[in-house]
Parts: sequence; C-alpha cells; structure tokens
Amino acid sequence: MLITPHLLAGVVIAKGIPEAVPAAIAAVTSHFVLDSIPHWDYIGKPMPTLTNIILTVADGLLAFGLWWWLVPTELRWYGLLIGGFAVLPDFLIAPKYLWPKWITLPIVKQFNHWHTAVLQYACEPKTWVIGLLPQVVLVAFLIYFLRG
Ligand SMILES: [Zn+2]
Repeated sequence: MLITPHLLAGVVIAKGIPEAVPAAIAAVTSHFVLDSIPHWDYIGKPMPTLTNIILTVADGLLAFGLWWWLVPTELRWYGLLIGGFAVLPDFLIAPKYLWPKWITLPIVKQFNHWHTAVLQYACEPKTWVIGLLPQVVLVAFLIYFLRG
C-alpha cells in the first residue's frame, strides 16, 4: 500500500497502545495485513518511473501532512515512531531502486519476493483506480479514528 495508509495505521495503533514494543510489533504486523488487501501502489509497472516518483513524493507529503494535522501534540512523536514501524518493511526493500543488487542478498531476496510477488502482486486489481479505492476508504476510516 501507499505510505499514507501504513503511516496512519501505525499512528492509530500508537493511539491505542501506549507501550512502545507491543505497539511497534503491532505496527509492523499491520503493514503485512494491509499489503495483503488487493491494491496498487504504483502506476504502470512497479518501477521508479517519473510518474511513480511523483506519486511517492506526493504520498509521503500527504502522509506527513495528515500526521501533523491529525495527531495531538502529546502523541505526535510517539505516533510518528510507531507509524515508522508500520512503514518499515517498505523501507527495507527501497534500497533496490538505487542498488538493484540489494534484493539478491540472502534474506532480503526471500523477503522481497514474499513482500511483492506473493503478498501484493499475486492479487492485484485490474486497474489502478480500483487498486486505489481500498486505500482511500482505509485512509478515511483511519482519519475517523484519529479525529475521534
Ligand atoms: Zn509493503
């Protein structure tokens, strides 16, 4: 999924779990649960094209903007920490875009295959718009929980 649903899911977890270790474990787990929902998080092929780079930058700005706007001051940095754990699995794979050999390394190779080919690409919706829809709905629910 995009950065925004992952980060906001982590912030919602932080709001409900004040202890950092269980919250971090729940946040990392939430990443894989959300990634298993059929979705698209790129346009065209899953490559770092200009369109996908713009999408990722806009998504990151939206995620941080919503985090700043929605999270109360007393929870802000803890929420960002736990939200970071919710996004962490994607950051573990991201070096492949700068150094393709990264995903040939032991453990990283198996993790990347499971995280992308098995968990995400095996059940992609037919179109990008439909792939975006569950993420929009999820973000709306997460905003509801953060504002409540
Ligand atoms: Zn992911």
